[in-house]
Amino acid sequence: MWRNTRTTRAVSLGGPHKGHPGQRATLAGVKVLVIGGGAREHALCRSLSLDPDVTALHCAPGNAGIAEVAELHPVDQLDGDAVARLATELGADLVVVGPEAPLVAGVADAVRAVGIPVFGPSREAAQLEGSKAFAKDVMAGAGVPTARSYVCTTPEEIDEALDAFGAPYVVKDDGLAAGKGVVVTEDVEQARAHALACDRVVIEEYLDGPEVSLFAITDGVTVLPLRPAQDFKRALDGDEGPNTGGMGAYSPLPWADPKLVDEVMDSVLQPTVDELRRRGTPFSGLLYAGLAITGRGVRVIEFNARFGDPETQVVLARLKTPLAGVLLNSANGTLDDQAPLSWSDDAAVTVVVASHNYPETPRTGDPIEGLDAIAEQDAPHAYVLHAGTKRDGDAIVSAGGRVLSVTATGTDLAQARERAYAAVGRIRLDGSQHRTDIARKAAEA
Ligand code: AMP
Repeated sequence: MWRNTRTTRAVSLGGPHKGHPGQRATLAGVKVLVIGGGAREHALCRSLSLDPDVTALHCAPGNAGIAEVAELHPVDQLDGDAVARLATELGADLVVVGPEAPLVAGVADAVRAVGIPVFGPSREAAQLEGSKAFAKDVMAGAGVPTARSYVCTTPEEIDEALDAFGAPYVVKDDGLAAGKGVVVTEDVEQARAHALACDRVVIEEYLDGPEVSLFAITDGVTVLPLRPAQDFKRALDGDEGPNTGGMGAYSPLPWADPKLVDEVMDSVLQPTVDELRRRGTPFSGLLYAGLAITGRGVRVIEFNARFGDPETQVVLARLKTPLAGVLLNSANGTLDDQAPLSWSDDAAVTVVVASHNYPETPRTGDPIEGLDAIAEQDAPHAYVLHAGTKRDGDAIVSAGGRVLSVTATGTDLAQARERAYAAVGRIRLDGSQHRTDIARKAAEA
């Protein structure tokens, strides 16, 4: 089992305790179980493994890279009872749910029901991501600025909505679609075809302007924003090709207004958390606001109910505050006890290496080479976070569409980019693809 080599000791988790009956202010080390198996979970596990308060780290199901910092458990991440049983067996002090699907399936509720603190919202609150229509309703209630939209279920409603907004058309499957349920197109036939293929569809006004991802950690009352990042959704350079789960990211955003975070806190994050609490579905965990900076101001494109992938890779690369205490304060409802977060001035860039034919029908089972060379030549400034990988004998092979997130830090974006791409250049994965323009414009600005 992976164990932190530092000695176990009583630790204070993030600042003076203001007194919450039944909550523990100190712990003799924290045992953490992370649920998920992508590069986001590898980034979470990496940060947790560097946290001196963490004395044991487990992950289910994990991947070949996570296995280097955590003990893996082959548990179905969508099975709440199985996850709760595992957490109990391990004596976990904290369960961190990474992906959206287990949250929407109620895994956080199952863990909470056995009395273990969990970072992640309830099934009901996760509808903020699980249903675009629910998210629109919450935004309307909270007065949060977003695109005007219609929820449609019939061909007539679809045609009416497409006519009302005109091109470019934005058509969103109401349910979860792993980042691939959204079509943005000039072609009305393509827009109509996608809309007709969905049971329930949201058709909305096109928002013009650069996109920003802003994450906030919340316990349902207090909201703690992280640093903004930008991701790259399209498969090909120059934002061409189909939408993907994300092909790269960077932080900070030198072009953004320094007041952006405060503005989004006031106009989006706090009102949304307050509205969800008011409705009886308090949201704790990670609230992710996908924003468009339009000529008429900031607009919410979407909410997610968990850390974003690949933005997490760059945001956590810059976070200096040990992670476990922050997540535990969210899980325990004690975030008002959290000391201010501390951030590195470094920039961070992550480049996703994807398999042949991603996002359509990604090929898997190809051997990955060059990982040792990166560990020897590029660490500690550049490192590889695994997404779809698994061990096959002595080899590490691809096991999904997005395979690796190659992450690097530097004194500025130009240096972080250079280091990330130098490391990407050492990877050998037959038929693989990556974008060559992650953070380029921002680094040149
Ligand atoms: P979503 O899954 O809602 O984040 O959408 C995926 C991507 O589609 C976003 O990151 C945007 O690039 C694009 N998109 C979604 N909604 C809009 C919109 N209303 N206007 C312009 N682009 C959008």
